Amino acid sequence: TDLFLPERPNSRGWDLANATHLAEIEAARLPFRDTRFTAAPLLAGEPAAREPQPLPNPADPGDTVGEVRWSTPADVDTALAAAQPWDAAPEERARVLNGVADLYEEHHGEIFAIVAREAGKSLPDAVGELREAVDFLRYYAARIAELDAPPLGRVTCISPWNFPLAIFTGQIAAALAAGNAVLAKPAEQTPLIADLAVRLMHEAGVPRTAIQLLPGGGEIGAALTSDARVDGVTFTGSTETALKIRKAMAENLAPGAPLTAETGGLNAMIVDSTALAEQAVADVLTSAFQSAGQRCSALRCLYVQADVAPMFKEMLFGAMEELRLGDPWSLATDVGPLIDGEAHAAIKGYVDKARSEGRVLKELNATAGGHFLGPVVIGVSGIEAIEKEVFGPVLHLATFEADELDAVIDAVNARGFGLTFGLHTRIDSRVQHVVERVHAGNLYVNRNQIGAIVGSQPFGGEGLSGTGPKAGGPMYVRKMTRAEGAEKSQ
Ligand code: GLU
Repeated sequence: TDLFLPERPNSRGWDLANATHLAEIEAARLPFRDTRFTAAPLLAGEPAAREPQPLPNPADPGDTVGEVRWSTPADVDTALAAAQPWDAAPEERARVLNGVADLYEEHHGEIFAIVAREAGKSLPDAVGELREAVDFLRYYAARIAELDAPPLGRVTCISPWNFPLAIFTGQIAAALAAGNAVLAKPAEQTPLIADLAVRLMHEAGVPRTAIQLLPGGGEIGAALTSDARVDGVTFTGSTETALKIRKAMAENLAPGAPLTAETGGLNAMIVDSTALAEQAVADVLTSAFQSAGQRCSALRCLYVQADVAPMFKEMLFGAMEELRLGDPWSLATDVGPLIDGEAHAAIKGYVDKARSEGRVLKELNATAGGHFLGPVVIGVSGIEAIEKEVFGPVLHLATFEADELDAVIDAVNARGFGLTFGLHTRIDSRVQHVVERVHAGNLYVNRNQIGAIVGSQPFGGEGLSGTGPKAGGPMYVRKMTRAEGAEKSQ
C-alpha cells in the first residue's frame, strides 16, 4: 500500500508562535489583501451567462472581496449530463489527491487571505482550516487502497460556510477517492475559496468531468438533491435542511442512494468541583468563543458544580475581558465577526431578549463596523431551557449539585443531539461513568471540545446531529462506494 501513502501523513501546519513562520505568512498573504477574487460555475460544459454579484467582507462593509456568477438550474442539468465517474487507476487517484494537498499548501498565502476576508477567519482558524483540508485529502487518498467496491456514480456535495475549505474539500476528497463524479455546491457566503479549491483540483489532474462547481443557494441545492441522475448526497449544515434533503431524495432518487449528513449540535460540558479551574476556564473560552462560536462542535451549555460556581464564574468572566474582538486579518484578534447580517440580526435578537429578561450574566461590547457580536454568557436552569442551537459566541451556564450528575447527562441526552461533549474532572471513575452514559460522537476529557484532528479524532455525531460515518475516520470513503448497499442486500 506504499503507493497510496504520502510522504507526510498530516499537514505540518504553521507555528504562529514562531517569528520566522509568521513573517513568511505575512509576506505570502499580503499580495491578496485587496485582490478582487472571482467565482463562477466550473463545469465540463458551457455555463449559462449570468451577471456577476459582489461579495462582502463580514468584518468590513467597505471591502468587496470579489464577485460571483451564480449557477442556474440549466447549469445543474449541464453538469449532470457531463459528469463522469473518475475511472483512473486507484494509485493514480491517490497520487492526484496528494497533489491537490501539495498545491493547497503552496497557495497558503492566498487561502489565508480569502478565508479571512470572505469567511471572517482569524489567522489561527485559517491555519487550522488549511491543515484540515490537507489532512482530509491525504487521509482519504490513503484509504483508497482498502476499497473493494465501485463508486456510487454521481455524488452531490453541499458544504457550509463555517469551514469553507476544510469541509468543502473533505466531502469532495472522499467522494473522489472512491472514484465518483462530484457536483459541489459551496455555501452561498463562501464561493470564492471554493472556486480556488476546484481550480487547484483541476490543476492537479482531477478531470473536469469528475469535479464540477455550482455556486448557488437553495434553488441549486434543491436541484442537486432531487434529480434521479444523482446517486448519493453528502451534506453538512442544519438538521432542518438535512431532513428536507432526505425527503427530496426519498421522492426522487433511487432507493439505495445514501445520504451522509453532519448537522447541528447542542453541546454541553460538565465542570465538577474537582476540576482544575484554570485549565477548565481556558477550555471553556476556546470551546465557546473561538471562531465566534460558529462551529457545530462549539460548547453551548456549560454545567458547573454549584459549590465551585461562584469562584469559577469570577475566573471565567475575568478571562473573557481579555478576549479581543475585531478584524480577523489582525494577529491581535481572538474573536472575528459573524458570517452575515442575517446571522447577526437573529443572534442579537436572541441576546437582547435574554437581557430584557435579566438572564445575561456577562457580556462584552461589540466592535463597530462589521457583523460583530460580543461574547456573552446567559444563565439557564439547564439545557432543556435552551430553545435551539444558537450559532454564535453565546454560552449558556447552569449549575448542578453533587447528586445531580446523572440527571444532567440524561437531560443532555434527552435533547436528541449527540455531537460533542466536554468533561472536566480529576476523578478517574467519573470519566468512565460519563463516557458510558453520554450519547455523543466526540467526547473530550480535560481539554477543549473543538478542533477534531483527521485520522486520530474522527468527527461526527449521532441522533439529530448526523448519520455517520465520521469524517476523517476509516469508514467515510467506504460510504461513497456501493459496498454498503451490496452487503445489505445479500
Ligand atoms: N470539525 C470541527 C471541530 O471539531 C467542527 C465542524 C463543524 O462545525 O461542522 O471543531
